[in-house]
Amino acid sequence: MKLTAIVPCYNEQEVLPLFYEEATRVFSGLEADYELLFVNDGSSDRTLAILKELAEKDDHVKYLSFSRNFGKEAAMYAGFRNASGDYVAVMDADLQDPPALIPQMLEILATGEYDSVATCRTTREGEPPIRSWFARKFYRLINKISDADIRDGARDFRLMKRQMVEAILGMTEYNRFSKGIMGWIGFRTYWLPYENVERAAGETKWSFWKLFKYALDGIINFSQVPLNMASWFGIVMTVVSFIFIIFIVVRRLIFGDPVAGWASTMCVIIFIGGIQLFCMGIIGRYLAKTYLETKKRPIYIASESNIEEAKLL
Ligand code: UDP
Ligand code: MG
Repeated sequence: MKLTAIVPCYNEQEVLPLFYEEATRVFSGLEADYELLFVNDGSSDRTLAILKELAEKDDHVKYLSFSRNFGKEAAMYAGFRNASGDYVAVMDADLQDPPALIPQMLEILATGEYDSVATCRTTREGEPPIRSWFARKFYRLINKISDADIRDGARDFRLMKRQMVEAILGMTEYNRFSKGIMGWIGFRTYWLPYENVERAAGETKWSFWKLFKYALDGIINFSQVPLNMASWFGIVMTVVSFIFIIFIVVRRLIFGDPVAGWASTMCVIIFIGGIQLFCMGIIGRYLAKTYLETKKRPIYIASESNIEEAKLL
């Protein structure tokens, strides 16, 4: 039996040695064989150099290095494609996903009752309040409007069986949102809560704006509800206009003055124009996604690796 830990790394020179030490300490105590599969996501610091040094002295270290920064989603996908383990874990390099939890997660899978063990954090402490607020709202919204079951506070840190990895690889979409993908493919998942841990060193790569866009993308990738909004607006506007027509006709019959003010006419025109542009914008977002999807571009491009027969695209 073999365990693969996929570790996406983007400018992680400060924490990599710490992560390697901790992961090695924990994994060498396991009965299973293991590999640490680092995916260097186009780092501009010494990340790749450190990975090469580690690979030189330890056979358990495998790396795959991207030709530029493709993002964490692409890095995870590349990891799944190149993982050789029967059990596969995804974990961050910054020790926010403690390797020490892995033995417990393996035990849960060993019972045979579950196909994956996912983690969620119990608190959002240490996070800016606005970020928490938006995060909560996002989870509530996406669960309402999509098929995928996404848990509030779910992290990407997860251990899964080979079967589930194959299912993920079957989802070859270009616009990847792994929280949605995991929720969509199903399987029996055990949720393991744990206290939020601060990053061991270095800085977070996610600004508020980047996260916000990521959340919007997630909604567009896993829900058609925004598209339906256009139809609903249309129906509501039609009903309102009927009521308005009746109102105007009745007023004409009773008071005799059909000419209403210029201001109210302008308000209606601007209001409808706004709604139309808004709906077109939504359609545009979906169209843009479709456009990227039909191009069938590779999700990542790797330039080097120490894995035999590595899948570089
Ligand atoms: N990461 C990546 N590519 C990116 C951004 C981040 O591979 O473009 C990796 C990063 O190296 C880390 C993980 O994704 O291992 C999580 O990133 P980070 O800790 O910055 O995010 P946070 O924990 O603050 O959400
Ligand atoms: Mg982190």
